[in-house]
Amino acid sequence: MELEGTHWIAGRRSAEGSERFQAVDPTTGETLEPGFPEATSAEIAQAADAAEEAFTALAALAPSERAQLLETIADEIFELGDPLLERLGRETALPPARLTGERGRTVGQLRLFAELLRDGTCLDARIDTALPDREPLPRPDLRRVLRPLGPVAVFGASNFPLAFSVAGGDTASALAAGCPVVVKGHPAHPGGSELVAAAVAKAVAKHELPGGAFSLVHGASPRVGEELVDHPSIKSVGFTGSLRAGRALFDRAAARPEPIPVHAEMGSSNPVFFLTGVLSQDPAALAAATVGSLTLGAGQFCTNPGMLVVPTGAEADGFREALVAAVSDAPTGTAVHAGIAESYRSDLQTFLDTPDVELLAGTVGGDGAALQPALLGVSATTLTSRPHLLSELYGPATLLITADSTDAMTALAAALPGQLTATLHATDDELAGATGLLSTLSRRAGRLVLRGFPTGVEVSPAMHHGGPYPASSDERTTSVGTAAIARFLRPTCWQDFPDAALPPELRDDNPLGLLRLVNGQLTREPVTRT
Ligand code: NAP
Repeated sequence: MELEGTHWIAGRRSAEGSERFQAVDPTTGETLEPGFPEATSAEIAQAADAAEEAFTALAALAPSERAQLLETIADEIFELGDPLLERLGRETALPPARLTGERGRTVGQLRLFAELLRDGTCLDARIDTALPDREPLPRPDLRRVLRPLGPVAVFGASNFPLAFSVAGGDTASALAAGCPVVVKGHPAHPGGSELVAAAVAKAVAKHELPGGAFSLVHGASPRVGEELVDHPSIKSVGFTGSLRAGRALFDRAAARPEPIPVHAEMGSSNPVFFLTGVLSQDPAALAAATVGSLTLGAGQFCTNPGMLVVPTGAEADGFREALVAAVSDAPTGTAVHAGIAESYRSDLQTFLDTPDVELLAGTVGGDGAALQPALLGVSATTLTSRPHLLSELYGPATLLITADSTDAMTALAAALPGQLTATLHATDDELAGATGLLSTLSRRAGRLVLRGFPTGVEVSPAMHHGGPYPASSDERTTSVGTAAIARFLRPTCWQDFPDAALPPELRDDNPLGLLRLVNGQLTREPVTRT
């Protein structure tokens, strides 16, 4: 499939605007052909209006039909073959193995949502049959099920150009819920975005659905995303990226005449706490694993470990030496776009300009998209007295934080802003004694990891990828795993409706074979009316 430098709006290519931007190869700084148009206000409105028009048809699909749509999208993405990976390789500097793996994850999560729909439990169907003879008042027949919310605006992330982009987790979960999607592509990889959008549009057409079920608009300025979030047809937003942009979109959505939910995943420092017993076991291996997690994807994972908390003592000194060696040996990476490397160097310098913060390994320099790993040393007391050090330093840098005692670690944990993850390395005995620390961490983070590392987010039913603000804008939901569908569903209850007027999920004979909560019991059995 040839790149034409267009949006995909309601099943058709569009390129009305005169302003254009180009992707840049982060490795060479070369601009890549073709140019991509900045969406006009009319195009943004067209995509949002078409999404609203497509809503009824998409929402009316049986869960199994929506499952088939997701599977066709997965097939079409695979059909794009190597040209997709080659284009994204040039646009993001991510190596072929990483992009191949990410494509597998992207099609895998589309298929996982298809499985979820066939099972149907996620629709949470509940039926309380009428109790006409109940005293003092009869109970009506009540039937509740989760229904799609409406058109969703999705913001593609720069650091996962497939799995968190045009047909990534947000789009997969919104379509699975029955919500049309308008994607605002990330300007760092417009070519890969256009190719994936063409694949999604083809799948939508194959299933004879209205084209407005999916659109992609490009933009390299905040205006495009802002206008999309402002559009009255948009009913929810999925976002992965910086706190600055996520918060701006959240505030904007809240300021609309009709405020809408924004599900923004905005990253975190992902602290890793090491207790004394584990540090003496094999410090070199532990340091190598830590630095492996830190530099995975050149440090551009929202789960990369940006804080390492150790107790004072000889064991920690050995670990520190091993970390210094491992960070010094770690290769320089390349950012998915130069803006990330520029922010990284600037933030790193701000951290280092702070009194009592020292550079233990690595350097601050580098040009263009270069990301040089760095290890900074600081005490827990300094950290808590200088709140800017508690914010995320996005990139392959981590703070080695020394705490005097487990109580000091717990105090630090309590001072942390919301986190996606928190990790504990402890022996069995230490774990048994770390209930205070763990309980504090469980209030600050969405996922607790024991004796592992936070990078490597499984896409599965039990995964939670979210956390208290500022890790995400709504700590009750996840952007990874099948529970992500809940972001784009809303409950509706039917009271005293005859069977024929009910949606299939709630009919007496249970035509979809769903597991339903009927009078308090989970069952797939039909319902008998009283
Ligand atoms: P970003 O700046 O957050 O941008 C993400 C998307 O939001 C882009 O499409 C961007 O479009 C749009 N946007 C930015 N500001 C906006 C605003 N005020 N109103 C409306 N839309 C806006 O992310 P990025 O370009 O990927 O990287 C920049 C920084 O984000 C990194 O240095 C890092 O700190 C962080 N980041 C975090 C994660 C994470 O996993 N949480 C992932 C990637 C990056 P335009 O560029 O067209 O404005």
